[in-house]
Amino acid sequence: MANSKKTVTNWKLSKKALIMCLVAAAVLCAIGFVITYIYAQNQPNGEGLQAEIYVDDTLAMVVPLESDGSEIAEIPSAPGTHYQHVTSGCIRILSNDCNEQTCVKTGWIDELGETITCPEKNILIKITPLETKANILQDNQENTAQN
Ligand SMILES: [Zn+2]
Repeated sequence: MANSKKTVTNWKLSKKALIMCLVAAAVLCAIGFVITYIYAQNQPNGEGLQAEIYVDDTLAMVVPLESDGSEIAEIPSAPGTHYQHVTSGCIRILSNDCNEQTCVKTGWIDELGETITCPEKNILIKITPLETKANILQDNQENTAQN
């Protein structure tokens, strides 16, 4: 009798231990998710993204979206077209002297792969990851200048 009772007690204990392990694992998972979520929330918007601005299929300029400050500027080689970039990682065409104005109406873009196009003036703004060919091109130019 004593033996069987002991066996039952051990089985109960191990079941309790198993549940404790599962609960502990669940809690660890939850903590992991919370930490990841908080970390993601603290990332500045636009991190790792840039806006490439093409005029006539030629890269006119690159605006890093994670850069500080708000700026309004005219796109070089596209007179009359002004873009605006703000710290929240988004960019838009603020004003354009084109007739169709769909590029202006497109509004803000802030996600990878999003684009603004102005068919009339052949302007394309697209959001790409940082360190694309544009950066490499710039680095090469800087290296050439140093040499
Ligand atoms: Zn337009």
